[in-house]
Amino acid sequence: MLNIVLFGPPGAGKGTQSEKLIEKYHLVHLSTGDIFRANIKGATELGTLAKSYMDKGQLVPDEVTIKMLESEVNKNAHAIGFIFDGFPRTKAQAEALDSLLKSKSTSITMMLALEVEEAELKKRLLLRGESSGRADDKNPEVIQKRIEVYNNETSPVKDYFTAQGKYKGVHGIGEINEIFQALCNEIDSVK
Ligand code: AMP
Repeated sequence: MLNIVLFGPPGAGKGTQSEKLIEKYHLVHLSTGDIFRANIKGATELGTLAKSYMDKGQLVPDEVTIKMLESEVNKNAHAIGFIFDGFPRTKAQAEALDSLLKSKSTSITMMLALEVEEAELKKRLLLRGESSGRADDKNPEVIQKRIEVYNNETSPVKDYFTAQGKYKGVHGIGEINEIFQALCNEIDSVK
């Protein structure tokens, strides 16, 4: 299997690049943010819970997020691989993902990280907020909080995969297709 963690701060371009990668490599795209938003739209219990954290720019608790992700992986028993987008965001989530994949006799192939500096992220998120309909992209304070949460809680996940020799960073500013090509080059070098 080809199992990729697409990593990077909010606004780095993970969603955009995921769409292109799944088309090229025929992978299943699991975006925890998208799944939470679908639950909010469908007014499920999970959606109500997730919204209370998302609106503040905080992480949804690990226990809930991990359970949801596991059930999505289990729903796709015949996948030839996954792109994990926005997951794992904590070390506990990374450990849970490793053990889930291990139980299925597979593992993470690589962590591909889109590296973008903070000023650019804020600019992109506010711009996205004009059209995305996402409440968390509209408010500068919530954007700031999400970046802080990324720096404090999520960036250790980079160290986790670096220690496994699986971290690959790609410069995430420039033409979408050029960034895509750089990601493909990394994938093709291990396939
Ligand atoms: P995203 O669409 O990836 O930017 O995620 C939007 C929001 O959903 C985040 O700010 C969190 O509140 C929540 N979220 C998404 N993925 C996770 C995760 N892996 N762990 C905890 N919260 C998450």
